[in-house]
Amino acid sequence: MGKAVAFRQQVKRGWAALYRHLAAPRQAGDLVVLTYHSILPDETFSTPPDVFARQLEYLVERFRLVSLDAWLQRAEGGGADQRPAALVSFDDGYENFFRFAFPLLQKFEVPALLFITTGLVTGGCGVAARLGMYGHLPPLSWGQLRELQAGGVTIGSHTHRHCDLGQATRAEAAEELTYSKKILEDQLEAPIKFFAYPWGYRQNIGRETPSLLREAGYLAACSSLWGKNTAATDPYLLRRVRVDAWDTPEDFRAKVEGAWDFIGLYQKFS
Ligand SMILES: [Zn+2]
Repeated sequence: MGKAVAFRQQVKRGWAALYRHLAAPRQAGDLVVLTYHSILPDETFSTPPDVFARQLEYLVERFRLVSLDAWLQRAEGGGADQRPAALVSFDDGYENFFRFAFPLLQKFEVPALLFITTGLVTGGCGVAARLGMYGHLPPLSWGQLRELQAGGVTIGSHTHRHCDLGQATRAEAAEELTYSKKILEDQLEAPIKFFAYPWGYRQNIGRETPSLLREAGYLAACSSLWGKNTAATDPYLLRRVRVDAWDTPEDFRAKVEGAWDFIGLYQKFS
């Protein structure tokens, strides 16, 4: 971990220590969506598999792990299980999901939502250059994606070119949403219902994108706006909680339980 990253993490821990006393505990109707990118041993920006396994173990103990479909339909209901709901999501579509994340998700019987940048799978449109710290990681193949889908992983779209929708014209944004959806549906022979905005902060979403998503036939979209979701949350602006490679077990718990939700407030007022 670099010095700047370590410093920022320390500052956030400080705020979390204060905010944990203000945050309302997660409740039965709440959904916490976790954001991951890469699960890989010995790689600076990737969560190591053994750490991921411990995180899943913790989630399974404290939360009801749900699919987004079930949560949106309130079909899972929870019944006697009054624990809050959690959902594990992955962005971009790296091959290490297949090797390291998928076996652990299966072991702990945790549903997952995997957002694919289709241009990364098809190749040839310069996507890797827009993936920053993850640009060197190889992508999943169509064969692996079919296996994942057959194994119960929900596949969603993350645009075709990992496009900043806050900078795109209406026509470009519409093309990214419909084209990536069509490629995935053709390859996987199943409806693609969910979407995640690349980068996902307010400035990367674009004012009209939620309505374009609705028109394109998507049912919900995940952002990087921080926090939990309730029945009142706009399904096209679902909030998430980002897990970083350098999170300690305490950081992870604090993020999941709500102590880091001050970031959502900061995002709102900055
Ligand atoms: Zn991304």
